[in-house]
Parts: sequence; structure tokens; C-alpha cells
Amino acid sequence: MKPTRRDLITLSAGAVVALPFTPIPWKLLDDSAIWTQNWPWIPTPARGEPSTKFTACTLCPAACGLKVRCIAGKPVGIAPVAAHPVSRGGLCALAFGAHQLPWHPLRLKQPLLRGQLVTMDQAQAAVAAELKRAGASVAFLDARPGRTASMLYRRFLQENHSVRYLTVARPGESTGHLLRQWSGSPEPLGIDIENAKTILSFGVPVLDGWATPGRVLTAWKRKSFRLIQVDSIATPTAGLADRWLLIEPGTEAALAQALAGTMPVEAAAKVTGLSAALIQDTARELASAGPALVLGDDPAIAALNVQLQNVGRAGGYVSRRGSSVPAMQLEAVPDGSLELLFVEDDAAPWNVVQKKLSPTGYLVCFSAYHAGLANHAPCVIPVPANLETVDDAAEPFDALTASYSVAQALLPAPQGVTAAHAFLGRLAGWAEDEYATTQAKRVAAIHAAKRGSLFDPAAGSTTAVSEFKDAAKLQEALQQGGCWQDDAAAPRVLKCTVPATPAKAAAVQGSNWTAAVLPPLATKIYQESTLRPTREI
Ligand code: SF4
Repeated sequence: MKPTRRDLITLSAGAVVALPFTPIPWKLLDDSAIWTQNWPWIPTPARGEPSTKFTACTLCPAACGLKVRCIAGKPVGIAPVAAHPVSRGGLCALAFGAHQLPWHPLRLKQPLLRGQLVTMDQAQAAVAAELKRAGASVAFLDARPGRTASMLYRRFLQENHSVRYLTVARPGESTGHLLRQWSGSPEPLGIDIENAKTILSFGVPVLDGWATPGRVLTAWKRKSFRLIQVDSIATPTAGLADRWLLIEPGTEAALAQALAGTMPVEAAAKVTGLSAALIQDTARELASAGPALVLGDDPAIAALNVQLQNVGRAGGYVSRRGSSVPAMQLEAVPDGSLELLFVEDDAAPWNVVQKKLSPTGYLVCFSAYHAGLANHAPCVIPVPANLETVDDAAEPFDALTASYSVAQALLPAPQGVTAAHAFLGRLAGWAEDEYATTQAKRVAAIHAAKRGSLFDPAAGSTTAVSEFKDAAKLQEALQQGGCWQDDAAAPRVLKCTVPATPAKAAAVQGSNWTAAVLPPLATKIYQESTLRPTREI
């Protein structure tokens, strides 16, 4: 029988209808997905034995403990360390993708001079010439103070006759500095979040990765404090707070003064846009549901803490053993006064940094990515990314006890990148092992003091420092991801004298949650959500 046109059409239609029920389209889809991933520039995870390593996060000063899952020795996943003395089993969202950062598309592997790729020797010669020109008007802006690298930055400045070792105040940090000054305490003050029953936050992003997120969020999850957020815009923290006081921008000091009783409530109501009844109600809540901790960055906020007797008491600002080396805040540097500024990563926004440079000022940015300040600096030195270099971290500003941890290099750094301290060391002619020697001295000092204990993340146990035979053993334990924690200071109520016209606290520079770049997955979520405004990269 000869096939007709109708037979052909029926057969074709049948084939089209039946095709999705065969494996052919699904196999083609699968294969094309695999083929499009097989480009030579796409990193492929190695195959091999799984293992777990412990280290410290170096993306911000919080220094949270990381549990890193590795395959064939390469990090493939990050999780928090339960019972870690600093991060208390928590991490911020950024850390979960931190192992992807070395492959970020904006990764820098060669120095840049005015936008042109150059060799490290050329970059070094250019910086040496600028150093000579700048004389003593040179400064270093440290993104994470308290490290061994920070000690070397200070030394470099001293050798160049400069005292301008700079840091940037994190939101809510300056109140602790003011209270320390007013009380004359030789020790820095930590923030006792765990024992606070009420937290009144003036614009501090308490629930948005602020301070040590593990500490804050554990206390929040346990509902151990009520949060009253004062914000003039809708922020993630304001949205989650028990009460949000929507006030006029820039009127925080008036509200703090009214709550402290140093300004008439009606006058504050007029300025802030809040009702007098609401201000009185908040004042009553602070007085009755204590300890009530007040966070913010204005002398009036520090004075309110004094009024609430929060200094040296549980649930307030309490002494931490140890001494923090004084650093100048970037905001305190006179505008247009810096001839040469070395800056790490995205330590401060460009508009703030730009103001401090003289018209002939030169910016040297140490960055692993072509992003943030590196977009504006005439000289960019590529540095190892997170997990690619040995680094260390001291306690974050809110900590109640001093701590120290070491981050190991879990990945090899690409050729052509150099740590900031090594670059400065070459300029200054230091020995190659200067960093290792300085760090070993630091561990030896902890061992010699025989104070505190070492947390072992693998075993989840702690060992007293006095039980370590020598400093080398302590160093070994730290390199395995251990975290040293000092003994807590004895509780001591501090008497504060509030000056009649207190100096203005350093301005807040922004959240400590975001970095200039995020891991690719986090970038997508970050940009597609309306959680936070996207920063310039
Ligand atoms: S808060 Fe900072 S140190 Fe902690 S996990 Fe996040 S980026 Fe790392």
C-alpha cells in the first residue's frame, strides 16, 4: 500500500506528541547543561577525600570561627563552629559563600597603575617615589585592627615618621570609646548583649550582621531582649524590631536627651516628629525593663547610657581585660591633609577617603578585587583573597573578653599577589620572615601570661593556656583553628563624668556586613532582593 499524505501527517503529529515521553529531549537538555559548563575558564571542584578544617573568618573584624568542608584539600563548603567562644555557632550570610570569593570575576592578580596592568616591581617603584614625596604625611587605613599585620603597619608608619595609623568606627562602636574616656577606664569596654533585657538602638543595624552576628542573633533567637529601633528609614532591623520609632533624620540626639531627662519631652517631640506620649512611654520602658542598653554614635547616646547606669554593669558596657592600642579615626583626620594613604580592601567609602586626601594626594589600595576603593586608587596592589593566606584576628569591638585566632591558608594564592605587610616590608627592607616572627612573639606573650584558655573546635573542648608545655604547642593548636579566649574581667562599676560639651563621636561609616564584593550566589540574592541597597562595585 502506498503511504498517503494523510499517513505522513498522522505519523509526524504522533511523533511530536510522543517525543516528550521519550528520554531524547531530557537527555539533550542534560547534555547541553553539561557542555555549557565545560569551558576551560570555569573552575571544576577536584575529586578526592573529604576532610574538615577549622579556621577563622577574615572578611571582617568579627573573626567568627569557620568549619570548612574540603574535597581533596580544597574548600567546598563553610559552616559555623558550634560553641565557638567568639561567634557562638553563628555566621553572617556572607561567610557561607566565602570559599567562592577567590574565583570572583573581579579578582585582581596583577598590580594596576592608573588603570594599566604593571609588574610588581613597577608598582613598588611608583609607591617608593610617592613615599619619598609625601614625607611624614603618610597614613595607613586598617580595615581590621588588632592583627599581626596591623602591628607591622604601625611599624612601617613609625619608620616613616608618621603617627597616622587610622581605623574606621563601626556602627555603635564610638559609644564604648566615649564611655571609656569619661570613666577613665584603662581597659576597653565590651557590650554585654546577653544580659540586656531591652536594647534601644539609634540606627545601629543590630539584626543585620552587626558586631559579632553569632552573639547578637543567638540572644535575639532566645528572645532575651526586646528591641526598640530608632530609624528614619525602613531598615531590615527596623522591620524585625519589637518597636520601630520612625523619627526625622538627624534628630537622634534630641530623642536621647529627652529620654535622659535633659531636654523637655515636648521640645523633643517637635523636633523628632514622635508624639510626646510615645517618648514618655519609651522612657518608662527603659526605666522599668532593665538592664536597658542604648546603642548609637552620639555623645547624647553615651550620656543616656550613663544616666541608665549602664557602665560597668551586667547588660551594659563592661570592662574587657587587656589594652587596645589607640588609633586615630579616619573622620578625625583634617580634610585634604594626606599626601599618601595606604588603604586595605573596602575599609571606607570613597567619598570619605577622597575628602582626606590633599589635591596631590595619592591612594594605594591593597585589594583582592577590582572593586570599591580599587576603582578610584591610582595604584592597586593585588592581595590574597580570603582563605588564601595566613592571617590572624583579635577580639571584635563588642567582645566581653579578649581573644585571638589564626586563619590558615587553605588555598594557594595566585602568582603575582602579595600581602600588604609583605609589600610594605619590601619597601622598608624588612626580613622575609618578619610577619612569622612577629606573630610567634605574640603567641609567646599569650603563653607567658598563662591567662585564659584555648578552644579546640574539633573536640569542642577548652584547655587552660597554663597546660600548654610551650608557645610552639599553643601556636600549633591555634593553627588548627583554635581560639584563645582571655579570662573575664572582674565586674567593676565605672563612674563616668559627662563633659559639659562632649566631643562629637566619629561618624558611622556603614554596615559591617557587606564587603565590596560578594560570592557569586550571594551577589545574585543580594542584587535581586530588596533587603539592602546595592553598593557601588
Ligand atoms: S560577621 Fe564577619 S567574620 Fe563573621 S562570618 Fe560574617 S564576615 Fe566573617
